[in-house]
Amino acid sequence: MKIGVVAVQGAFIEHQRTLNKLNVENFLIRQKKDLEQPFDGLIFPGGESTAMGKLFTELDLFEPLDKLIKSGFPVFGTCAGLILIAEKLSNDDKKYFASMPITVKRNAYGRQLGSFETKSAFADIGEVPMVFIRAPYIDEVRGDTKILATVDGHIVAARYHNQLGTAFHPELTDDVSVHKYFIDMIAKKV
Ligand code: GLN
Repeated sequence: MKIGVVAVQGAFIEHQRTLNKLNVENFLIRQKKDLEQPFDGLIFPGGESTAMGKLFTELDLFEPLDKLIKSGFPVFGTCAGLILIAEKLSNDDKKYFASMPITVKRNAYGRQLGSFETKSAFADIGEVPMVFIRAPYIDEVRGDTKILATVDGHIVAARYHNQLGTAFHPELTDDVSVHKYFIDMIAKKV
């Protein structure tokens, strides 16, 4: 099992650290040629989705990543990463890979609740710590998309076939269970 962490901007090191804790082989994707090696799953970190979107185009990474995701390749997006895979944004005209049939609201918690930490139930795992930083939430899920977690009535994690998205940052806590869920997803254990 080998995971590529997209590393053009944002909190990619923290994803590497979590994968290392799980003893899952991983590498950073910074340019097109990094995609030439065989690997099993892709992570889009948190950060700034607009900046990442621009960098993908500048670095010629958009098309190869887009092809990969649309071929059904396993992908996990956290926070800005969730925005990158959402089919629609409810408060922004932009869209990126648009591969997951969900509508996401950017910066959904407003200024006052810009950043917060909580705990909530996540699918089969149980309670997990959740760190939100200028986070989005999921307004709507469509098709086969399964809701995996909610906080205060808002959807904060969902799965659509091989795609997993969280509004929060599991990589910014000591908990490795959400990453383990992604690894199990790739191994078809969940
Ligand atoms: N607000 C950021 C965006 O819209 C996401 C924040 C994050 O990833 N922590 O891209």
